[in-house]
Amino acid sequence: MKFFVLQNPKADERTAVTDFLPVDGSRTGEAPRCSACGRFIGMLPLLPPVRVELETWGTNFGDIAFGPSEELLVSARFWKLYQDSDLTGLIDVGSVEVVKLKSHQKPRKAAPRYHCCRVGLSKAAVDDAKSALEREEPATCKECRLGGIIKRIRRVVLEPSSWSGEDNFFSRGLPGTILASEKFEKFCRENQISNCLLIPAEEFSFDHYTRRT
Ligand SMILES: [Zn+2]
Repeated sequence: MKFFVLQNPKADERTAVTDFLPVDGSRTGEAPRCSACGRFIGMLPLLPPVRVELETWGTNFGDIAFGPSEELLVSARFWKLYQDSDLTGLIDVGSVEVVKLKSHQKPRKAAPRYHCCRVGLSKAAVDDAKSALEREEPATCKECRLGGIIKRIRRVVLEPSSWSGEDNFFSRGLPGTILASEKFEKFCRENQISNCLLIPAEEFSFDHYTRRT
């Protein structure tokens, strides 16, 4: 099975780059905790009604808009296609009201209706050694696999047989990196989903400590 990392294509494809921020005072639920060690394993989940400020950088609205936490906004077109497919992993939060639109270029069309969904946590666990993943402190909990800020990662390799089958997911041990299945990549390609960069997991890397070790 091949996996991908879903990213905001900021530098690569600017025509439909779209971001959002929940408005001040948005309702949130409780952050999830690890059932074994009690540590927080996710951010505060956004609750409906979802009201956002939308920001576009090109002349088109993206089918996906990226935000500051674990939610994505997806266009009504995307959401209908996704629901009609057999893809899983995006959890329904609710419809979205755009209260403010900031466009850096004049949009060619009116904004689509957006739907908010959250990326769920999978049983999939990142393999630290095979991913060349370095943490500030080693992971101590076998369940959540968290252990200090991640300094760098050279690729994403999941532990064999740990993936629980979602097409969009966060893996244990690698918070904030949205992973996707081969099936999701095909779905996006065939439906020309915009503002959607899918990097093969073996090519994804980051280094937050380039000047230090
Ligand atoms: Zn834990």
